[in-house]
Amino acid sequence: MLNIAEIRKDFPILSRTVYGKPLVYLDNAATTQKPRCVVEKIEEMYYNLNANVHRGVHFLSQEATNAHEAARVTVQKFIGAKSSSEIVFTHGTTESINLVASSFCRAFCREGDEILITAMEHHSNIVPWQLQGDIKGVKLQVVPINENGELCLDELEKKISPCTKLIAVTHISNVLGTINPIEKITEIAHKHNIPILIDAAQSIPHLPIDVQKIDCDFLVFSSHKMYGPTGIGVLYGKEKWLDALPPYQGGGEMIASVTFERTTYSEIPFKFEAGTPDFVGSAALATALDYISEIGLKNISRYEHELLKYATQQLQTIKGLHIIGNATNKSSVISFLVDGIHPYDMGMLLDKMGIAVRTGHHCAEPLMNELGIPGTVRASLAFYNTHEEIDALIKGIERIITMF
Ligand code: PLP
Repeated sequence: MLNIAEIRKDFPILSRTVYGKPLVYLDNAATTQKPRCVVEKIEEMYYNLNANVHRGVHFLSQEATNAHEAARVTVQKFIGAKSSSEIVFTHGTTESINLVASSFCRAFCREGDEILITAMEHHSNIVPWQLQGDIKGVKLQVVPINENGELCLDELEKKISPCTKLIAVTHISNVLGTINPIEKITEIAHKHNIPILIDAAQSIPHLPIDVQKIDCDFLVFSSHKMYGPTGIGVLYGKEKWLDALPPYQGGGEMIASVTFERTTYSEIPFKFEAGTPDFVGSAALATALDYISEIGLKNISRYEHELLKYATQQLQTIKGLHIIGNATNKSSVISFLVDGIHPYDMGMLLDKMGIAVRTGHHCAEPLMNELGIPGTVRASLAFYNTHEEIDALIKGIERIITMF
């Protein structure tokens, strides 16, 4: 059993008020709050270990380098990667996907080739591939979803053609909460000799992930959605793929040698890390991972599942409220609409009660079009949320309905 009252003490922001009301933070899919240890790590890095990494012979630079490279090993262990050289630090999920899209398409795609995605992707797993459409002529193929918001797996296999060069799929939908069967999808991809990229932005804070068990070729996520600092994220890539891909950006740190005529590149992962890396961010991300590991992702997952079940049951008691996304296998996100109330109005009024939810298309406009809705209200949970906060949400929605 998690001691939520104790855990909440680690997150100072959770005890603040907004508009004189206790903050009820239910926007965790957008970004999570940070535990004290993460903020203290950032402070410690700037106060005690601030020096540029990899280049310096001096003591401080070596300490900063050690912290940065130790963070890489922490990430490796957290996701079960074979080697720390398979961990590339990026700015976040978005940059990680742009990196793969750019380098992969440059090396392996030509006019008419296809990237297979799903109808529930975030814009960051759609637009980078479309940019490659402009440059390399690749096209998107889209796997549809059923009325519960689950992926149509048989359609996925039917959409695979000799032109399919890569499958890119979200692990958990940031709108529907659907958990996609990524091991099964990876198996299908590999049966057809196609590499697969998993967008784990919404799953990594909620479920234990083992990239070797999944056997995916790439997996991407953002630190800020898993209690770490903003501005840093991860691209995991199997060694054979990272070796095969050309660099994404050029500059310092990613080279072996440079002349005006020709440059040779560094080994992986440094080949993909041009410029001064965010060594403060990486160290603080590692602190966040240690913090999560200490609580235990299995415990987190169990508690959040129970909270999701409770929230779903309570929301279902409200007349005129419709939950969008009813997958059997679902995680920490509940989208809903209430008859006659625009999601934006619902979000604004809940905010005045101290309840932070998100409204709109959630960077998934194509999904909204598929569902034929303009947007949703989205409550997204973390392990520091409580049953009382769900009660506050329900009371808030009921009050708003009576106002309308
Ligand atoms: N993918 C999914 C499923 C997301 O939910 C998000 C953010 O909400 C992203 C990608 C983009 O993450 P970031 O903005 O941290 O790069």
